[in-house]
Amino acid sequence: MSVPAPRRTFAIISHPDAGKTTLTEKLLLFGGAIHMAGEVRARGQNRRARSDWMKIEQARGISVTSSVMTFERGGTVFNLLDTPGHEDFSEDTYRTLTAVDSAVMVIDAARGIEAQTRKLFEVCRLRDVPILTFINKVDREGRDPFELLDEISDMLALDVAPLNWPAGMGGEFKGLYDLRSHKFLKPDGTGTNAAGATVQTTGLDDPQIDALCGPIAQRLRDQAELALGGYATLDADLYRRGALTPVLFGSALKDFGVEALIDALAEFAPAPRPQPALPEAVEPTDTQVSGFVFKVQANMNPQHRDRIAFLRIASGKFRRGMKLRQVATGKAIAINSPIFFFAQDREIADEAFPGDIIGIPNHGVLRVGDSLVEKDDVTFTGIPNFAPEILRRVRLGDPTKSKQLRTALTDMAEEGVTQLFKPLLGSQWVVGVVGQLQLEVLISRLEAEYRVAASFEPSPYETARWIAGDPAELKRFIDDNRGAMAEDRDGAPVFMARDSWELNYVTQRETAIRFSATRERA
Ligand code: GDP
Repeated sequence: MSVPAPRRTFAIISHPDAGKTTLTEKLLLFGGAIHMAGEVRARGQNRRARSDWMKIEQARGISVTSSVMTFERGGTVFNLLDTPGHEDFSEDTYRTLTAVDSAVMVIDAARGIEAQTRKLFEVCRLRDVPILTFINKVDREGRDPFELLDEISDMLALDVAPLNWPAGMGGEFKGLYDLRSHKFLKPDGTGTNAAGATVQTTGLDDPQIDALCGPIAQRLRDQAELALGGYATLDADLYRRGALTPVLFGSALKDFGVEALIDALAEFAPAPRPQPALPEAVEPTDTQVSGFVFKVQANMNPQHRDRIAFLRIASGKFRRGMKLRQVATGKAIAINSPIFFFAQDREIADEAFPGDIIGIPNHGVLRVGDSLVEKDDVTFTGIPNFAPEILRRVRLGDPTKSKQLRTALTDMAEEGVTQLFKPLLGSQWVVGVVGQLQLEVLISRLEAEYRVAASFEPSPYETARWIAGDPAELKRFIDDNRGAMAEDRDGAPVFMARDSWELNYVTQRETAIRFSATRERA
């Protein structure tokens, strides 16, 4: 049997404008997946033009949809999962981060750690996702490198291990010195895409450094020596356990440090990790094919109401045409036209290995959190729904469209854009979202994709919790609180509270009931 190429499945986390898109383009470029920088954006715009609702994306300059890009370099296959950058989409982002083995954190050298970087970092930490740091934009005036490293270390409580050092920044920038190999990468002086020649030095004492750095040679020597003495050296094990972050300085725009980043991922980022599941974690070496759906995207092509479920392969060798069983329903699903997300285009996949993502076109059968298996049931855990922080009643502009509304809301709920609750009393659906922007997306998509004009009215409830407990207790609680009870779209009972005070009061009094802010697909 042929041995599959090593896999690195990762995401980029960053604050908007730090350079994630630019870095993505360059990774694909160096990875040989595309031939011209800028194509990612251009392709993105094509796709955008096809769907009206994505105007919100453009207007706000954010990326709501996420995708998967696969590229190859030096015999390693890289699967880059794009995460939406806006804080309102933390739910979607969170789920995407359940499907990666590591993350690259991009920081703007002039700004340091920003709010969104920090939030996403916390999500990674929750799941022990190891992080490589890329301090971007060294071609511009940035903050002092020591200050940046100390900030990462202090704010994120992580050891930092710089792998390279910038000789100056901005107008002074002379190149990057690799602290481990002593190679010096200098710009070629032509302006754009200027990753120039690599010069092998014998170390910081090498007189070539003087020729390369001119007036700032001594500064590079002093700083690099201080860095070597003052910060941790790379310990791949600590990194993989999430206790240390290797740091690269670079410039995505000017191609500096991008190859070093790919090499670092290949060299020490973790290979596909065991995935948490019941009855026990699934090892990538397990022979049966298994995986979980971490994302569903509807209407990628508005011509047909297709839905793509994104499946992360956790174990086994997947082959096209295989039948996999949806554990939640027991249903067998033949996967005849799985999709690989190569940057250039979607390609039909014949085989996929642990760490790979395949897209499975389906008509709403597959849902976020679904486990798919070849033989033995396993249920992947840790892909939650989050309790909504905003609840709204849906008001329909044209009452004859109630069927379309229902279809649309169910679709959106399947995608994880919103949650949908059916109150036990009354007939009006309640949608729940984690952030305000999701409501705007919902309204525009209802119009653009389903031709349904709708608006939202405040609901008397502000927040919701899934409830569980002993059946008799549960029944008593539901009977006592019928007016505040609803079911989610799987029929699971949900308690809606008017405000946090009421929620507190009820949760403290009802000790026999478990209130949960997240729910995983059973
Ligand atoms: P995103 O919001 O994180 O995806 O950021 P983008 O990749 O769109 O970059 C935001 C802005 O920063 C754009 O104007 C980029 O051209 C610019 N940018 C990205 N990387 C660099 C870099 O290395 N140097 C400089 N000078 N600008 C950069």
